[in-house]
Amino acid sequence: MQSYDVCECGAPLRLMERPTPKPTGTEVLLKVVAAGVCHSDLHIWEGFYDIGGGKRLKLADRGVKLPLTMGHENVGEVVAAGPDATGVKIGDRRLVHPWLGCGKCAVCRRGDEQLCRTPFSIGVFRAGGYADHLLVPHPRYLFDIGNIPPERAAPLACSGITTYGALKKVGPILQEEPVVIIGAGGLGLMCLALHRAMGGKGAIVVDIDPVKREAALKAGAQAVIDGGAGDAAKQIIEATNGGAWAVIDLVGASRTVQLALDSIVKGGKVIIVGLFGGDITVPTPSFPLRAMSIQGSYVGSLPELAELLDLVRRKGVPDLPIGTRPLAAVNEALNDLKAGKVIGRLVLTPG
Ligand SMILES: [Zn+2]
Ligand SMILES: [Zn+2]
Repeated sequence: MQSYDVCECGAPLRLMERPTPKPTGTEVLLKVVAAGVCHSDLHIWEGFYDIGGGKRLKLADRGVKLPLTMGHENVGEVVAAGPDATGVKIGDRRLVHPWLGCGKCAVCRRGDEQLCRTPFSIGVFRAGGYADHLLVPHPRYLFDIGNIPPERAAPLACSGITTYGALKKVGPILQEEPVVIIGAGGLGLMCLALHRAMGGKGAIVVDIDPVKREAALKAGAQAVIDGGAGDAAKQIIEATNGGAWAVIDLVGASRTVQLALDSIVKGGKVIIVGLFGGDITVPTPSFPLRAMSIQGSYVGSLPELAELLDLVRRKGVPDLPIGTRPLAAVNEALNDLKAGKVIGRLVLTPG
């Protein structure tokens, strides 16, 4: 099999060849049909997160080992299965839930494998879909996509579940008050589409890039605001009639989190999803006096992916712009994403 691997942090991915794995036990081997290129791949590729003050959180310290085949938004066709892999047959097209845990601890048994303390996420801690084949340890991670085109289904595994998980954290207020979404890249447009499918009241989208703001308007945002404007917080407060009840920050930079905190109403919530990096200082009395909360949201659980697919079946696939590229163009795709040139999602199509 062939794959494009990170062999050295930040250096172009290298074409690697190794024997195609033979599934044993409950394992399932897929031929990769679609593999989304996600923003978090840029951090994995670079090898660190910026944690502010010039400090870095190294992925190597979190157990990420090189060479690594990235790619955690995958749809594949079943080509082989171990003797104990039930419920799949050759030729099935499946979306892969990539957020694997140990499967045994209390957290995993509760259904929150994405929060397991020994993660085995596909494309992060084990080989992902920037390859022609992908080995999945158990059929429970595979979801039927019905007649959803693979390149539209693939982003649901990260971009979809991540924004769905964040929107769920807003709670019932989602149907009553507009939500503010910071960032109108692939995640932002997915968040907008799912917000509508979930019966959201309306979304105000913030981005510093006028092209992305335009894309958000076209995708149904009730208003867009330039996050780089000096009075951005004031504009958000006006657009939300006195302050936002919930801000979903898909960027996660010092500036965007600060903007979110400056824009919420008493009792409001800031949900941080993005991994851009940085740090902020928050006066501790603000928490009780403004009755505010700051919550992190990391991808989503297996049951949430099932819920999301059910939502998509009822309300339609999020109509975000999708660009496809051959697997061999993976480096170009990552560079375009890094340069901010991508509207919507790029999906590699190894098949
Ligand atoms: Zn991702
Ligand atoms: Zn576990």
